[in-house]
Amino acid sequence: MYARSSLITLGIVAAVAAAPLAQRAPAPKSAAPNPKLEALKQEAVADVENRKVFSQQMVDQIFSYGELGFQEVETNRYLIDTLKKNGFAVQEGIAGIPTAFMATWGSGKPVIALGSDIDCIPQASQKPGVAWHDAMIEGAPGHGEGHNSGQAVNITAALAVKKIMEREHLSGTLRIWPGTAEELVGSKAYFIRAGLFKDVDIALFTHVSENLDVSWGPRDGTGLVSVQYSFLGETAHAAANPWRGRSALDAVELMDIGWNFRREHLRLSQRSHNVIVDGGDQPNVVPRTASVWYYFRETDYPHIKEMWETGDTIAKAAAMMAGVELQPTRVLGSAWPQHFNKVVAETTWANIQKVGLPQWSEDDQTLAKALQKELKNPRAEGLNTKLREQLQGPVRENTGGGSDDIGDISWNVPTVTLRYPSNIPGLPGHNWANAIAMATPIAHKGVTAGAKVQAMTILDLLMRPELVQQAWTYFRDVQTKETKYEPLIRPQDQPAIWLNKSIMDKYRPEMKKYYYDPSRYKTYLDQLGIKYPTVRP
Ligand SMILES: [Zn+2]
Repeated sequence: MYARSSLITLGIVAAVAAAPLAQRAPAPKSAAPNPKLEALKQEAVADVENRKVFSQQMVDQIFSYGELGFQEVETNRYLIDTLKKNGFAVQEGIAGIPTAFMATWGSGKPVIALGSDIDCIPQASQKPGVAWHDAMIEGAPGHGEGHNSGQAVNITAALAVKKIMEREHLSGTLRIWPGTAEELVGSKAYFIRAGLFKDVDIALFTHVSENLDVSWGPRDGTGLVSVQYSFLGETAHAAANPWRGRSALDAVELMDIGWNFRREHLRLSQRSHNVIVDGGDQPNVVPRTASVWYYFRETDYPHIKEMWETGDTIAKAAAMMAGVELQPTRVLGSAWPQHFNKVVAETTWANIQKVGLPQWSEDDQTLAKALQKELKNPRAEGLNTKLREQLQGPVRENTGGGSDDIGDISWNVPTVTLRYPSNIPGLPGHNWANAIAMATPIAHKGVTAGAKVQAMTILDLLMRPELVQQAWTYFRDVQTKETKYEPLIRPQDQPAIWLNKSIMDKYRPEMKKYYYDPSRYKTYLDQLGIKYPTVRP
């Protein structure tokens, strides 16, 4: 958050007639036409189009790995190999997370960090291109959100831009990194703590969606802290001597009852939910250990902290009632609410207008409508064919919703999330239905559209250094004027890299049989022998 002004003083970037900082408005004035930049953008767009097969293979490959958060072993290896092959230097195992990396190419300013998530969803195994629930492996994880597609957006864009940078001798550094364990909001706060974004000028994040879109200001949705409460009691014969035991499970149940009573008196914007990860071993043994895992979500940092304190109080009270001990709590993940940069969003939005939505085929629309009908959506309107009419600014009334730990990055570096149209509208999220499009032409076309936008935005940032300056002006003078980032993770917390290991150990041997082999099959649908689209008669 400092030393960014060195951008100009170091003279690394092209000379810019910059007005004094104070006179500069945060919003970028529409730039004078720059024929060279426009020509390079057109070249990058054409190059991304020519890399369609590369993008498709990456989308299909990661889909086939179907790896849960912190266990993205194959995905990690595949991405690192791809990046190394393309000239990137890769730092592996960053921030104490084995399945995270930072890949770097280029030199000098600006430093542009391209990120996207890579993990999948429990129990979302699904045959792609089939418009009803049809698991590839019953109970196995699968890409029931679409995190298999975002790296292809960034890497395809980066390779197209890199080619231009080499020829034109453009200064700038491209970083590529994975949103490891995003479904656990498990990694990005640790990336910040490890200082991995200290020298980054702009973070361009990308996430699967049903339209091509970007926004600025506070995003709707929540931040959160994810906490595990573990209790310790004493075993006893549950029938012969129950009075000699103390049940840790009682504390878990009492905590959940307490929380659900308190829920009535929480703000409307909150979301909270839990799963019992240890409920004892067998009924005739009084449970000595039991654990419950909570997500506490709110729309700002002080309210997240307040919920967390309430949770801690109820846990202590439950332990007292059950006569058991509350163990030290474990933070398993955290996320700040998201705030996106106005200048970078406006730059991206202008490029979105130039790219527009993909040309969907009859088959694409047939699949989308069949799935929407299958889910009994009131209107089965198929895929989006229109962009949003204008750039979305700050959300007026945030009634709560999901989270993404890109929020932590967004409070440290000017950031936007580019959303690209690789999925079908009207789906439940975190569900097998969200996996259906994700290794089909719908996902592939959406990724190519997203990569075109991303490539153009990177070129804007490389060739118009005033944009980077203005982005930081907004970041400093507007976004962080009153709100300062404080991590939700505590000094003693470490990445929860053991999560999901046992699930992957259980399913991986069977899943391996279905890994995509692009040397033998053009697409993953071909490999699986699935006719596209497969819909009910
Ligand atoms: Zn996501």
